[in-house]
Amino acid sequence: MSFPPGFAPLAMVLCGLCVGSFLNVCIHRLPLKQSVVWPASRCPGCGHELAWFDNIPIASYLVLRGRCRSCRLPISVRYPIVEALTAAIFLWHWMVFGPTPLLFVRLAFACALIALFAIDLDHQILPDVITLPGIGVGFLCSVFFPPGPIMSLAGIALGGGLLWAIAEAWFRLRKVEAMGFGDVKMLAMVGAFLGVKLVVVTFVISSMIGGVVGVLLVATRRADMATRVPFGTMLAVAALIASLYGDSLLTWYLGRF
Ligand SMILES: [Zn+2]
Repeated sequence: MSFPPGFAPLAMVLCGLCVGSFLNVCIHRLPLKQSVVWPASRCPGCGHELAWFDNIPIASYLVLRGRCRSCRLPISVRYPIVEALTAAIFLWHWMVFGPTPLLFVRLAFACALIALFAIDLDHQILPDVITLPGIGVGFLCSVFFPPGPIMSLAGIALGGGLLWAIAEAWFRLRKVEAMGFGDVKMLAMVGAFLGVKLVVVTFVISSMIGGVVGVLLVATRRADMATRVPFGTMLAVAALIASLYGDSLLTWYLGRF
């Protein structure tokens, strides 16, 4: 069976839009400990239950011009942004991985990262219902696909252990919690999917992003040195880069010596 050229990228974008729509539900409901499958979405203002045509990714937002059909309450622009972002990330994975089984593993990983990115930004939490099953799924996939079960186990140990040690040392030193253990479980999940080498890459990239974001925030007086940064949000961006380009980055970096 052969498809016309451009079919696969288009399918990835459409898939990404629909998955992004579901991720919106997860991002909204998981921090509230609500079910992501029931009940149907409602307007938080008037309780108007959304019909299927109110739920079409991006298109509904544009048609409704960003407002509830019944009470005109503004709908957060976050919804179409998450949908567009997910579609772009799906297409990007297709371009990097192509038609391989690893594509689907890394897409599942990316979905978990998108949800964690937004939830940490909003609520400064990284729900266990994403990170803990994520560790299990990542390890299971690694039995059949890269990085392999040994590298995955080492990744879980280093990812979890590294941050845990920093959090513990910081707590003893400063008597304040540097980060929640949500970050520890999240980096363990990254280790499970990507393996021990790319955990190191993820940690280095997230520290760089953290440094730049921190300097920008302090420079623009949006924050001082004691402001809690959503580390999970930066970890999500770093892990996505590591998932897509970590191996190439490692080859390039080690090739310099
Ligand atoms: Zn409404």
